[in-house]
Amino acid sequence: MIVIMNHRATPEQIQTVINHVESLGYRVHRSDGTERTILGIIGDERPLDTENLEAFEGVERVVRVLHPFKLASREFHPENSVVRVNGIEIGGDQLVLMAGPCSVESREQLFETAAAVKEAGAHILRGGAFKPRTSPYAFQGLGLKGLELLREAREKFHLPIVTEVLAPQDVSLVAQYADILQIGARNMQNFALLRAVGEVQKPVLLKRGMMATIEEWLMAAEYILAQGNSRVILCERGIRTFETATRNTFDINAIPLIKQLSHLPVIADPSHGTGRWDLVIPVSRAAIAAGADGLIIEVHPHPEQALSDGAQSLRPDRFASLVEETRRLAEVLGRRL
Ligand code: PEP
Ligand code: MN
Repeated sequence: MIVIMNHRATPEQIQTVINHVESLGYRVHRSDGTERTILGIIGDERPLDTENLEAFEGVERVVRVLHPFKLASREFHPENSVVRVNGIEIGGDQLVLMAGPCSVESREQLFETAAAVKEAGAHILRGGAFKPRTSPYAFQGLGLKGLELLREAREKFHLPIVTEVLAPQDVSLVAQYADILQIGARNMQNFALLRAVGEVQKPVLLKRGMMATIEEWLMAAEYILAQGNSRVILCERGIRTFETATRNTFDINAIPLIKQLSHLPVIADPSHGTGRWDLVIPVSRAAIAAGADGLIIEVHPHPEQALSDGAQSLRPDRFASLVEETRRLAEVLGRRL
């Protein structure tokens, strides 16, 4: 349930409503918009009487949110949420480009990639140090060594870092190195991990599970939001379908639908969404045109030698072309790069 205060409501009136709701055993999430304050009531709201709440001074109306996700819903937060990372705004007018290797493999590989994506115009550097691999015999990432290389690259190239955290016990370690914590597709419903990243004050890039519905994905975001971390960025990375010609099926529908249902920013990952480097640029165009707030792209200087996801990695020159195309598209769409 959400309580929409009218635009003339005084701070005392708002506080009186909060105190009342809390005295009934609920938690309140307050969202101060440019126009009005909205109070999200967290807990089993069925016994709550809406008319009673509407009688409070300063209350405009009380709305039961029909979706099972509340804090993630547009009703709770009508304006787009903007997640700020070192001066970069994700979810605003700007399109944000995250790029880098699937895995951090060596200093040379990471730095060569970072220099190239920075030069091309990327805003944020990606790279996995802890890798979720299907096979236990496949390269698992450099772990702590990978995080240290990411930190070095962050300082040298002035690029914030997005990197995956695989386990709840690693959250505090990874949070010391990352500017954005990535939750991978395979962990989208790892509720202990979602709670753990909900407790740190770092933005979270929440990838869609490969078999997850839009509602399950938004409920995963709700776990993080309900824990008190409001800086959630969604990432569409393709879902499993009957189709085997591509690694996944990039769900273009998800982008405008998420924008209707939720205020959270949405980033598109056409690298995992297609699994093929030659489809990354066209699917990026589609995602931006559909309303994505940015892209996350795998780039490798020598894709044929990559220790993971070489087939879907762009060479740096192709990434530079993608940035140029995105710049032109941004203009047409009234956004900027
Ligand atoms: C990745 O970003 O390299 C990755 C493992 O992504 P996903 O969780 O979407 O498969
Ligand atoms: Mn990858």
